[in-house]
Amino acid sequence: MKRVIVLGATGSIGVQALKVIAAGADLCVVGLSCDRNVALLMEQAVSLRVGCVAIASLQAAATVPAELYPEIDVLSGPHGAARLVREVEADIVLNAIVGFAGLESSLAALENDRVLALANKESLVCAGSLVTGLAAQKGLQILPVDSEHSALFQLVRAAGADAVESVVLTASGGPFRGRGREELTAVTKEEALAHPTWSMGEKITIDSATLMNKGLEVIEAHHLFGLPYERIEVVVHPQSLVHALVRVKDGALLAHLGAADMRVPIAYALHYPKRVTVAAERFDLTGGKALEFAAPDEDTFPAIRLAREAGAKGDAATCALNAANETAVRSFLEGGLSFLGISEVVAHVVRESPGGTLGTYEEVVAVDDWARREAADLCSRRSH
Ligand code: NDP
Ligand code: MG
Repeated sequence: MKRVIVLGATGSIGVQALKVIAAGADLCVVGLSCDRNVALLMEQAVSLRVGCVAIASLQAAATVPAELYPEIDVLSGPHGAARLVREVEADIVLNAIVGFAGLESSLAALENDRVLALANKESLVCAGSLVTGLAAQKGLQILPVDSEHSALFQLVRAAGADAVESVVLTASGGPFRGRGREELTAVTKEEALAHPTWSMGEKITIDSATLMNKGLEVIEAHHLFGLPYERIEVVVHPQSLVHALVRVKDGALLAHLGAADMRVPIAYALHYPKRVTVAAERFDLTGGKALEFAAPDEDTFPAIRLAREAGAKGDAATCALNAANETAVRSFLEGGLSFLGISEVVAHVVRESPGGTLGTYEEVVAVDDWARREAADLCSRRSH
């Protein structure tokens, strides 16, 4: 029986992960976390008989009537999830917290010899060298949950790392694919949240509309597979059926196909190295669905170029890019910044940011803080 801690249990990935765990007889949940959705978290904890939960928001944690849950330990505050990882015995930690807030728990998982199933791509964007260095030092595997990276993980294993010429990430193109900049000046939050193929949390859905999600994924792939940026390609594939491809030395192109259903990569990571049955839709090869591929429009959507620019400067710049993006996306969702303003704020902060590697968590936090302040200042000056 594998003991699993699910962080970000109340989110899109977290809820799907609990379904995957419920469907498999050899997995059990030993810890759960959320930010403020305590009603759902406590319901999950009671039904799964989980003895320890973490709640990041102190305000939300204060509303939990402890006398109703005598058998559940509640760790509250922003460091609660990392404490849960340190204190609760587990075999695997699924990190599905959104944003920089997930980094501390990724490091705690590896420091405590837990296998890390990683949905929180921001951990690698902010502190890629630190996270992968720690995993290597501990001899631990990071199992990607992000669908493209799960596909690449499988393809690279199949081909053999030495045979890989380059990897290709596919992007749906988001809800604004095909539009020019002038058609994006007044897009609303509701339009940006209407993703054509995937149903996900708000932040990643906006990242998909700006294509910053793909920019973050290029950085994620660089760290996970130890590849230089010029060997990581991006192609727009609106059907989201091909999740990634690998070009191998002999000219062959290996592809990973399947329905756009996150339960598939979640199950792969949680059951690894076993493969289990998942009730995902089967792709009908004779159903007449065409597969299209095109180059991303980097003039309208500069995010991938910005991610490469930050990647070339080093970890400090990718950390700054992430912090600026989180700040700008929040401002857009709150009705402040315009849609096009998101990448403009990120571009400014990346250009101002220092480069180089970040060797400690404290150094990462300092760059994150600086970049958030810069971005917040720009957002407030540009907000209407
Ligand atoms: P959601 O917004 O749906 O869920 C986020 C989860 O994190 C919730 O449980 C939320 O709690 C919790 N959370 C939010 N803020 C904090 C915080 N400051 N501290 C601790 N916990 C916090 O996000 P998704 O599930 O969509 O995404 C999670 C991660 O997985 C992201 O990094 C995303 O990029 C990645 N990912 C997601 C995919 C998807 O299909 N959704 C696909 C590939 C990657 P609460 O509910 O209380 O707010
Ligand atoms: Mg992805």
